[in-house]
Amino acid sequence: MSQAGGQGTLFVISAPSGAGKTSLVSEMLRQDAQLGVSVSHTTRALREGERSGVNYHFVSRGEFEAMIARGEFLEHADVFGNYYGTSQVWVRETLARGQDVILEIDWQGAEQVRRLIPECLSIFIVPPSAQVLRERLVGRGTDAPEVVERRLSEAEEECRHAVEFDYLVVNDDFNVALADLLAIVRSRRLKMSVQQNRHSRLLAGLAGSV
Ligand code: 5GP
Repeated sequence: MSQAGGQGTLFVISAPSGAGKTSLVSEMLRQDAQLGVSVSHTTRALREGERSGVNYHFVSRGEFEAMIARGEFLEHADVFGNYYGTSQVWVRETLARGQDVILEIDWQGAEQVRRLIPECLSIFIVPPSAQVLRERLVGRGTDAPEVVERRLSEAEEECRHAVEFDYLVVNDDFNVALADLLAIVRSRRLKMSVQQNRHSRLLAGLAGSV
């Protein structure tokens, strides 16, 4: 997919669970009306407070596999026993309308998207230390120790892929991390390859050719 012709930019954001990715992304969306987020499909069970069509499109394994067979996913992955996938049509149509899109996906999905859409921009968010990550995953202390250990080892696996991303944001202070994320988006929009297209008449006028 080309960035030419008013295409939006695709931002791929990954993080271990406990890094604060979901809260950061929802604040980015609140502060930047030009950003949209893709609602993924998943086979995992709905958690308390979640709504189908808002947090995820919750589907059965059979439905998910039928969608894979029909080529409906831009990327999909098995993340710790559940399927997750990004709608191909929604992402491509939204980018084609010139809107910027965020994908909140795991490292396996990020790898696939980088291959398919090399001009995407990928961001990895980490907590400030392993200790803080542990504290955030232990949370209120209501989970069984083996559940906490499993979450920690899943988080470590995700973090092993951090260096594959274009940007690293450390979420120590929420507002600093948010400003960092918005700065990445803003600087991307100011790139000559993007601006040249948006301001072609201005540039031509200034150069005396209209
Ligand atoms: P959770 O079940 O906690 O919401 O998400 C578990 C993991 O799945 C997170 O790392 C999240 O980023 C990832 N994930 C969510 N949606 C997608 C998706 O569409 N594709 C991929 N590859 N990963 C996803």
